[in-house]
Amino acid sequence: MRSIKKNNRRKIVRTPANSLLLGEMPRGCKLCIRGTKLVLFLTGLCAQACYYCPLSEKRRGRDVVYANERPVKSTQDIVEEAKLMDALGTGITGGDPSLRFRRTLRYIRLLKRKFGRRHHIHMYCGGELSREQLRKLKQAGLDEVRFHTWSVNPVERALRAGLQAGVEIPAIPNGYTRIISLFRDLNRINCSFINLNELEFSDTNLSQLKAHGFEIKSDESMAVKGSEETAVRALKWAAANTALNIHYCPSALKDAVQLRNRLKRRAKNVVSPHEVITEEGLLVKGVVQDLPPEKLVLVRRRLMLKHGIPAEFIVIDRQKRRIELHWFVAEKLAKLEPELKFALVEEYPTYDRLETTLIPLSR
Ligand code: SF4
Repeated sequence: MRSIKKNNRRKIVRTPANSLLLGEMPRGCKLCIRGTKLVLFLTGLCAQACYYCPLSEKRRGRDVVYANERPVKSTQDIVEEAKLMDALGTGITGGDPSLRFRRTLRYIRLLKRKFGRRHHIHMYCGGELSREQLRKLKQAGLDEVRFHTWSVNPVERALRAGLQAGVEIPAIPNGYTRIISLFRDLNRINCSFINLNELEFSDTNLSQLKAHGFEIKSDESMAVKGSEETAVRALKWAAANTALNIHYCPSALKDAVQLRNRLKRRAKNVVSPHEVITEEGLLVKGVVQDLPPEKLVLVRRRLMLKHGIPAEFIVIDRQKRRIELHWFVAEKLAKLEPELKFALVEEYPTYDRLETTLIPLSR
């Protein structure tokens, strides 16, 4: 057991990403904050049934695979997605990836083979892993395992197998006693790290969290009121009583820092000449909407010839059935081509190209 001297309280520091840290930050978190980790959703299956589970309807209970936002049909989708964001590592999530153990091993081996030994891989695990499974994971090259657990047994077994092993749990507002009791046990077994998440409302856990008496923290946040206070209290206790490495990850970090960094990395690899990258890593452009599919080619050609627009600044998006062009050109043409419907759009540079803003330019 790692021990600390009486009255030798360690320091809790605020990180540049606005999270709180006691001791060392796990490498998986360091890379995740920088947006350098591919999020490999390995399966939506899970046997745990946590009442606060935030998984979406689209994924919960379904045996589906996603690499970031891209549905995975073959291993090539995983490799391509990792390349498009210049991934330095992968976080294998779910659901519970251990329920699809052979798939987990296959993807770990694939990623290590394609991107090298230094490509850092951490995986989540909802249940327990046998000694044999841990041995296979280590052999395949897994760097870090994070148990979603309130028991020390799976962590202890993983540590014995020679893996970096830790725990990832939400800071439940009325759960302080349970959390520090777990900390005490994890300190006894020299657990590598703990990642404490701010509890968050999602579409799917809203009614359950409300039924437990939890409230939303503020109008700007989906975090649960009191979760951060519980985390800070638990960190202070751990600073005085343990030698644990604990990272508290606030809900704002996921969108404001981690997702933004990941979007920026992908944006610079997928941006087209007619698109501009914003500070948030989104893509801005102009569009001509509501054209019948058979007119797309004709209208594009006419606009190119009439206004001298270079071909790379005006393209057809067949999937969204529209013409796309540089925002600057769209603003100009909206005045000159009143019979066409121009707009400005802002979208994620992700596989699904989720649109966040649409501003009509034509009357
Ligand atoms: S372990 Fe994770 S995926 Fe499984 S029910 Fe709990 S929160 Fe959801």
